[in-house]
Amino acid sequence: MSMPALMPVYPRCDVRPVRGEGCYLIGERGERYLDFASGIAVNALGHGHPHLTKAIQDQAATLMHVSNLYGSPQGEALAERIVANSFADTVFFTNSGAEAIECAIKTARRYHYANGNPQRNTLITFDTAFHGRTLGAISATNQAKMRDGFEPLLPGFAYATFNDLAGALALIDDHTAGFLVEPVQGEGGIRVASHEFLQGLRKACDEHGLLLVLDEVQCGYGRTGTLFAHEQYGVVPDIVSAAKGIAGGFPLGACLATQEAAKGMVFGTHGSTYGGNPLGMAAGSAILDVMLEPGFFEHVATMGNRLRQGLEQMIPNHDHLFESVRGMGLMLGLKLKSDCRQFVAHCRDHHGLLMVAAGENVVRILPPLVIEEAHIAEAIEKLSEAARTFVPASND
Ligand SMILES: *Cc1c(COP(=O)(O)O)cnc(C)c1O
Repeated sequence: MSMPALMPVYPRCDVRPVRGEGCYLIGERGERYLDFASGIAVNALGHGHPHLTKAIQDQAATLMHVSNLYGSPQGEALAERIVANSFADTVFFTNSGAEAIECAIKTARRYHYANGNPQRNTLITFDTAFHGRTLGAISATNQAKMRDGFEPLLPGFAYATFNDLAGALALIDDHTAGFLVEPVQGEGGIRVASHEFLQGLRKACDEHGLLLVLDEVQCGYGRTGTLFAHEQYGVVPDIVSAAKGIAGGFPLGACLATQEAAKGMVFGTHGSTYGGNPLGMAAGSAILDVMLEPGFFEHVATMGNRLRQGLEQMIPNHDHLFESVRGMGLMLGLKLKSDCRQFVAHCRDHHGLLMVAAGENVVRILPPLVIEEAHIAEAIEKLSEAARTFVPASND
């Protein structure tokens, strides 16, 4: 057998979606799935949202791409809206989360360079972190499964333990540029940073002249019930990377920074051919049109609480399988006492419910942010039923 035409780097399952309708996906054979995966926290407005769809259609017919050689009224308008609604003074648009991380790393290094401290080039990052698959991004995690075989990786990273403030502070030295951390680790298993941890990192940054760089690629853009998760910590970052939900399924990312943190990013220091093109900007604007409507984030918080309560109430009935619930807003994790990948496959194949496996045997529950009570009830029913019918395979 020759290698498949599509490079076989993903262990793809048998669900082959061909259409989406709101919170549901429809497969090749017409079967329906309740989509509590949302393309891994991307389809924030579900599938086929009329406002997002129309914005993309209209912009595609008007002007799709021009390059960054020319002025960008579309980019200026979206950047100004993001700035008006966040800590940031300035935004660089990318096509993905990993590129938003690359821009954040470059911005942080360049800040210290601009200050005459080029030796301050090391970011302290955290175990079980996930920042994407570029060489820079895999260098910023110490998860072997992402790094093996790709050495030499990028120097300039030191690794501490997530939520261990003292351990992170102990790594600060003359080469430290700052910290790079997810307020809620997604891939790592929906691990929520403690308030003490994030606030302590902020304080250390202030004391040592370091930058607090947050990876909000997964937890940002309304997922936790605020536009950015850090808002709920009373912590103001210097640099934030965003992507996933930012354009509801159109490939877009962004690196947000304060004026001070971005001081090194002058003409010629960074670029992207597609990044910030009019089509991406239209998708990003349409998402903000919806998210900034009064009540949107409250809806996420309310639905998050309901879903969490539903999950917590279900646990005692299936305590052979379910251990606990964690997370924030609609970024929830159900920790299992059994293999989470097998259970995710079981829910998918036998109960029409899509979720995502993550680290620490945690099932990631990431519904579209526009779910209603009925979707929650349906998900809880499917999960209970799935827990009753699940038989863990002994050797897998
Ligand atoms: C998904 C993800 C990334 C990488 O985003 P891509 O668009 O896949 O490059 C980075 N950081 C976090 C926290 C993510 O969840």
